[in-house]
Amino acid sequence: MKVCDYREVEAQVAEEAEGVTVRWVISEADGAPHFSMRIFDVQPGHGSPLHSHWWEHEVFVLAGTGTVTMAGKSSPIKEGTVVFVPGDVEHQFVNEGDDVLRFICLIPHMWLEGVAEKHRPA
Ligand SMILES: [Zn+2]
Repeated sequence: MKVCDYREVEAQVAEEAEGVTVRWVISEADGAPHFSMRIFDVQPGHGSPLHSHWWEHEVFVLAGTGTVTMAGKSSPIKEGTVVFVPGDVEHQFVNEGDDVLRFICLIPHMWLEGVAEKHRPA
């Protein structure tokens, strides 16, 4: 069990994304068996690189404005926006506002690769 203010969790510089920090607020280190919750802070003019991977992102925007690009299509995002990025879809989050873009991003633990395919109902 864990109850805390997300700001108590250390903000780490995100790999390969200048101007972006990530807080792993719930992770395997907390005993979470399947999913991690991360809080991203993206500074104005910055964002993630265009990238893809097998796992999905489940995103909820807490503050700021920006753009999410998925499979070549861009959509505006702001406080309250929910984004589902399926696995293996190229994507990018960019802060195009004047304030920090902050969002929750849920991901499965890496050992779950291939588990969904194995257990998906026919
Ligand atoms: Zn991603």
